Amino acid sequence: MALPKIELHRHLEGSLRLSTLAEIAQTYDLDVPARDEESLRPYVQIMPDSPHDAEHFLSKFAVLRGFYCAPDVIRRVACEAVEDAAADNIKYLELRFTPKALARIRGFAFTDVIDWVLEGVDEGKQGRDIVVRLILALNRHESVADAELAILAGLDRKDRGIVAVDLCGQEEGFPAEPFAPIFREAQKAGMHITIHGAEWDGPHNVRYAIEKLGASRIGHGVRIFEDPDVITLAREREVFFEVCPTSNLQSGVVKSLSAHPLRKMQKAGLRTTLNTDDPSICGITLTEEYYRTAQAQSLGIKDIQAMLMNAAEAAFIPEMARTVLISRLIEAFSTHDQTRRL
Ligand SMILES: [Zn+2]
Repeated sequence: MALPKIELHRHLEGSLRLSTLAEIAQTYDLDVPARDEESLRPYVQIMPDSPHDAEHFLSKFAVLRGFYCAPDVIRRVACEAVEDAAADNIKYLELRFTPKALARIRGFAFTDVIDWVLEGVDEGKQGRDIVVRLILALNRHESVADAELAILAGLDRKDRGIVAVDLCGQEEGFPAEPFAPIFREAQKAGMHITIHGAEWDGPHNVRYAIEKLGASRIGHGVRIFEDPDVITLAREREVFFEVCPTSNLQSGVVKSLSAHPLRKMQKAGLRTTLNTDDPSICGITLTEEYYRTAQAQSLGIKDIQAMLMNAAEAAFIPEMARTVLISRLIEAFSTHDQTRRL
């Protein structure tokens, strides 16, 4: 039996089917670099010969923004992202999306974009054994005014499954300070906070996220070893780390999967979970992420179980739902045939 899985760090804008993108380009006659799957692939995915750096990785999102041209497109990609996660046996998904990214090309209102994502997600869940909750992502390299508008729209839809707020985008050169009042407001309104940090810049961003932005989870955090005091802080505050090794490799944060500090983070007492970040850009599923990382880091089934249990502990869900999720994992691991697939 395949193991049930949990994904806490997945961007909608990095979870798009290539076949759908080609179809959208043709249907809407879009001005994008290519319109058939294979010609489009190098523009929206990391290829074997692609440079491994942040700039190249982020350039994929710039191309993808050209596709968000109609309400039906946004509903469809949200629906398919849920379908694809369910097909990978993900039972609990926190899908994050950036309203600004989806709204920009056609100047859609953030309120509309969020509604379309919610509708698409609802459709994707229909008849599938998957729980989905949403995280509103704000780009630190875009304006605070837009972030405020997006948060207001998100707070109005809190009861429809938007449970948290994230700060993402270009880490280096774009400090989080201007966004602090927004995160304080969001937290006051009952939102959970997760922040991308120590991915492309130093661990001071993890300290700031924990102490000033109210983060209980950190996206990546792989450069945390540059400051032992921040490790101590994260351990004391019992912060969870959403680690995404393949993404880190492809965006140049680490030189290889075996050189990734995941094991080191675990040994330092940090609570780690395993995630894909952007499955379609990275060309990976969560199951493959587990296989590749387990092989590169010499992780056994107990380590995999520990990371999934951490993910259940870290999930932004009510305690009753967490108990159900944990029991499900315990049940799956107790009957799991270790010779079979994850
Ligand atoms: Zn991310």
